[in-house]
Amino acid sequence: MRVSRENFEDLVRNAVSALPEKFVSNMGNVSIVVSDHPTAKQMLENGLGARDVLYGLYDGVPLPERGSYVPPLPDVITIFHEPIESDCRTLEELAEQVRTTVFHEVAHYFGFSDGELDQMGLG
Ligand SMILES: [Zn+2]
Repeated sequence: MRVSRENFEDLVRNAVSALPEKFVSNMGNVSIVVSDHPTAKQMLENGLGARDVLYGLYDGVPLPERGSYVPPLPDVITIFHEPIESDCRTLEELAEQVRTTVFHEVAHYFGFSDGELDQMGLG
């Protein structure tokens, strides 16, 4: 399954618009970007090896940990085009995986851990 960067970004945008309004209204300080694939540094920093697959990454200070602290730069959620694409065979599958990945990373911003997300079927 291959889509252009433009089409992939559309899927990400659609996934963001599908988020519940009460989430989105609290996400003023988060930017969501698309990247081809994780860098070696991103893999290393997340304890991943060459065989691990990373669909998305949340980088920032989760909302519940902030208190009154407002980070100077926006948090960044990165969605990785190539790993998601190469695991999907249909456009539907791809759209679904993008949605799950966006939800997953946004949930990290709201303070959910990977263990909690696994239990919610968003691992
Ligand atoms: Zn995660």
